[in-house]
Amino acid sequence: MAFDESLTKDVLVHADIVKIISSYINLSKKGRNYVGVCPFHDDTNPSLTVSPEKKMFKCFVCGTGGNAITFVQKYERISFIEALKKVADMSGFHDPRLEKSVSVKKVDEKKEPLYKALTDLTLYYQYALGTNEGAEGLQYLLDRKLDADLQSKYRLGYAFRDGKATIEFLQSKGHSLKTLEDIGITMIVGNARADRNQGRVIFPICDKDGQVIGLVLDD
Ligand SMILES: [Zn+2]
Repeated sequence: MAFDESLTKDVLVHADIVKIISSYINLSKKGRNYVGVCPFHDDTNPSLTVSPEKKMFKCFVCGTGGNAITFVQKYERISFIEALKKVADMSGFHDPRLEKSVSVKKVDEKKEPLYKALTDLTLYYQYALGTNEGAEGLQYLLDRKLDADLQSKYRLGYAFRDGKATIEFLQSKGHSLKTLEDIGITMIVGNARADRNQGRVIFPICDKDGQVIGLVLDD
């Protein structure tokens, strides 16, 4: 990943490793170091040692060790860049180089085409909700007290009854039939594929970054 290596060093210099780790687990002082129950294995005795001088941590049972950034990365199961930014935040360290790394998002390469297709599909469903055909779905949402604000917040939508047109629309946006099959929206109609959600109201599932990762249908 292309970013300034010296940025990592600068963040670590400003980070108080004891403060960072103790915001996740309890640490107690033992001599020059701190110890805590290791979160990376089934620990009962405090096996994790944190050295403020070396700015490192190490578990002498499971062997997990590293610096403040790798602790956060492992504990939260996030990317290195995300952990780097988080540790910088927690340390009150500001640097313009951190802003540049904002655009570096954790991306699972296999899932990326699926996410893109789900995003386009969700926009299409949102559009359909505002059409004449979508009026029934819209009324259904309004009856359930899901007003325009909530519809837009939760990216609610409606799937056109012409499911073939939906598949064609997505293909015209560059999504392969394989991708559309992988996101689970296709069904076979004659010798073509159609959107199996046709005529339904759609509730997308989003992750914490707002990325649509799945769809729920209402019956
Ligand atoms: Zn351990």
